[in-house]
Amino acid sequence: MKNVRNGIVAILCIVFLGNILGGEGTSVVNTVSNEVVALNYFDALKVKLEKGMVKADLILLVDSLLEKENIDSNVIDLLSLKINEEYGAPWPIDTNPYPAHDVYKSWNTLMPHPYKSDICRHDSETTLSLTDNFMNCGYEHPIEGVVTSRFGWRNDRPHNGIDIDLVRGDTVRSVFRGVVRLAKWTGGYGRTLIIRHNNGLETIYAHLYKIMVQPGDIVDPGQAVARGGNSGASRGSHLHFETRYKGKPINPETIIDFKKFELLSDSVVIRKTKQGYVSFQPGTQFHKIKGGDYLYKIAGMYGVSVNQICKWNGIKRNHILLGGKELRVSK
Ligand SMILES: [Zn+2]
Repeated sequence: MKNVRNGIVAILCIVFLGNILGGEGTSVVNTVSNEVVALNYFDALKVKLEKGMVKADLILLVDSLLEKENIDSNVIDLLSLKINEEYGAPWPIDTNPYPAHDVYKSWNTLMPHPYKSDICRHDSETTLSLTDNFMNCGYEHPIEGVVTSRFGWRNDRPHNGIDIDLVRGDTVRSVFRGVVRLAKWTGGYGRTLIIRHNNGLETIYAHLYKIMVQPGDIVDPGQAVARGGNSGASRGSHLHFETRYKGKPINPETIIDFKKFELLSDSVVIRKTKQGYVSFQPGTQFHKIKGGDYLYKIAGMYGVSVNQICKWNGIKRNHILLGGKELRVSK
């Protein structure tokens, strides 16, 4: 019966949203089906709450959805919003004492990814300082180990961080000064630590064996904050390390040199794209594609190889160049 109802809701919503948005687009259909899925989960959670489930368990249950590979993270966001609307935020909202309040205006100690995409809507490009007084005393590497998996697409799924090999129990350190936002078990991440820094970056340390700090703790760069491990959806002990801005993952290798265990430079440029953000070093050159351009020609213009261009832009040699788009053509 529920499925029938949701089917009808979905069809009505498609027609309704279609009218508002002027018709077409698969994104409309996706949005609606995400909403329907989220509502389904919400109904199920409601039953559990009515049967006496406490809020802490409810949050754990929502987190456990992150483990399920076929669930769109937007569904979890929608579900969280719905829970907030209906039951009030079960987490502290008083945010003023926390870092980068201007950027986030919220402080959530229970959900790893609580941010709505609204907070990036008006962004274009911003330069984040990594070493000034504001960041207090610079950078320390989280754990000096070999990188075993990089940021980017992996088995048709995005890998939102970088994996560093370790032995269970090895010390994991905070990279910058910041305040612990989240320190708990969260679905696929296993035991997870999230630290918010003054420049708005958040760093995530996942699959931990032991967490040694609590939400609200101020941590310094290099401070031992956890022991590495293999918790959550992990095969073999390693640290899964993410850098995020406004909730969107950015490639840690545009900020940190994982071989020298140091920052690449004093700042990083973050540019809004359709999907989220890209980040790069200040001074990085871009080429705006024009009619008649091809990779070999562009490579010649900037004295770099086609291979380098492909690597910097995450494209293949046979990538179709669209006029007006930009290609990164320098380090
Ligand atoms: Zn990973």
